[in-house]
Formats: sequence, C-alpha cells, structure tokens
Amino acid sequence: MNLFELTKHLMYIPSTSGEEEAVGFWLRDHLDSLGWTVELQPVSENQNNIIAYLNDAPRVWFSTHMDTVPPFIPPTEDGEKIYGRGACDAKGIIAAQITAAERLRGEGIKDIGLLYTVEEERASTGAKAANEHPLASKCEYMINGEPTDNDLAIGSKGSFRLMIKTSGKAAHSAYPEEGDSAIETLLDILDDIRHTHFPHDDFFGETTVNIGTIEGGLALNIIPPRAEAGLLIRLTTKREPIEQALESVVRGRGEIEVLSCSEPVRLHPVDGFTYKVVRFTTDIPHMPSWGKPLLLGPGSILVAHTKDEFVMKKDLETAVELYVSLAKRLLATEHTECTEDTEQ
Ligand SMILES: [Zn+2]
Repeated sequence: MNLFELTKHLMYIPSTSGEEEAVGFWLRDHLDSLGWTVELQPVSENQNNIIAYLNDAPRVWFSTHMDTVPPFIPPTEDGEKIYGRGACDAKGIIAAQITAAERLRGEGIKDIGLLYTVEEERASTGAKAANEHPLASKCEYMINGEPTDNDLAIGSKGSFRLMIKTSGKAAHSAYPEEGDSAIETLLDILDDIRHTHFPHDDFFGETTVNIGTIEGGLALNIIPPRAEAGLLIRLTTKREPIEQALESVVRGRGEIEVLSCSEPVRLHPVDGFTYKVVRFTTDIPHMPSWGKPLLLGPGSILVAHTKDEFVMKKDLETAVELYVSLAKRLLATEHTECTEDTEQ
C-alpha cells in the first residue's frame, strides 16, 4: 500500500479520543501482515497503544498518536492535497513513519520500532502507559511526529491547564446590596490576568494565556453566587514562577484549581535540519523513559484541529525522506546511555 493510500485508509477509520480501538486493530493487522512483531498495550478497557518492532530492542523509534479531535471528517483529495480529519494530525504522519520504516527495513536496517498512542489530544494516558513499557529503557532516540512543517523542533512549549473559581452570595437582583456577584469578581480577576506580563524565556519565547471557557450564574434576576473560567497557559518556563504570578494576581479573590501541567521540553537537535521551537505540547513530556526525544512531521499545526485540515502530498513524501535520514543519522551515533542528559 503506498503512502497516500495508507494515509487515507487510516483516515477512513474514525478515532476520536476514546474511540481508537478500531484504528489500532487495523494498524496491528497491517503491520503484522508486513512482518512486524506487534503488541497491543492496554490503556483502558477499549483503548490500546500499538507497539511494533523488528528486533528485540530497537534503539530508534518512531511515534505519534492515533486519536484525533472531533468531529470525524472523511478523507478527500485532489492532485496536491489530502483533506480531512487526521490528514496532518496525525494519520499522515503514521503513514509517513511506516513508509520510512519499511524503506529502512528494505535496506536491511531493523533497529527500528513504532509506537502509536491513544489519548494524546486529551490527557496523554496512552503516553503515560507507554512510558512504563519494558522496551522504553532500551530506546535511545524517539522521533515523535506532530505537524512541524517538516522542520526539526528543538523545543516545545509546555501547557498548564487550570480553572479559576469564584464564589459570592446569591440575592434578588433588584437588591444587589444584599448579594455579592461571583461573576463580577471573576471578571476583575480575568481583567488583571489579561494585563499581567508573565515571565518568558529567550529560548522558548512568550508565555501566552488563553481564557478558553467561562461559566457562571443562575438566572438574569439572581446575583450570581458562582462563576469559573478555564485557562490554558503555554508555558515557556517552569510551572512555579507562573503559578506564583497567578496567585499574586488572584490575591485570594478566587480559587485556582490545576487540571494538568507539562513543562516546556528541549528536544534533540541534529545538524543539517531546519530548526524551530513549536508552541504546542505533545506526548513527549509524558514519555521520559523513551530516550532522547526528537520532533518532526509534515503539515501545519495551523490547520490541525480545524474543519479545513489537510496535508500536502509532497510534504508527506518529504517527511518519509527526512524520517529515513534522521533514523540513519541517529543509528550511526555511538551506542549511549542517553536518558540522563535530556533537559526537560
Ligand atoms: Zn497531534
């Protein structure tokens, strides 16, 4: 099956986070038919990571995720592009990695593994489970795939998800002096956050804040007793200074509830590739056992998660070349114990 057919085959199978079982079974059968040893690693009752290899303990692995964001958009194509959900995030990447691995195998190189996770678009539970897999400690380099426009990412920002919750006192809206509006308190806090300059980092860039959700109140004629906002902060520093800055902005007017946090990660550079720092986060922070991380993939993060998601066919082909040459470069390095000096 060629690169584009493989991409479309994967895209035809819906796999919104939580519903990756069918695409996982298809990948298992496909890799099995090509002669790979394939394991299903259970993550939840109906979610499995796919782990495939050609020898006992590969030094270099390709990885990305099988899940997509909703809604399912079946693939379509023209001469230049493949459109639809997962085109670049990340089924085109799976197809490019498998094609690259098969090409390496054709040249007699078997020191290669493939890891495809579930749940990357939500809580990275697939990556966390994969981190416990016994083959992780034998891996020296993990080439993770996300849409980087085929540049080699040398850093990725972290992500800090949290809620700010305020409470007040309900009262009849005609007698506001009897109540205390949780919504007004929340708006004051959010306004202060919008005017706060959070610490940034010369390497990783600006720390940015998205106020993504806001909820509260009961009815138009009731002073609102409760309100909350959900924030996603793209971290360029460790979590601590940002959390301290937030606490000093909130100043006890509300409660901060942390949902999840992954700190920014430095990735392994390789000479001769075009470098960039990406603003999104990946499964990588949850898989420190898998050796030195690298990140590269075809397509643009700017179209991922949109209804217009696509990947250029020539970018898929270029990605195959880049994956082949990256793997060869990494395999040509001395055998190293390499996990200790990975800067997180
Ligand atoms: Zn992705």
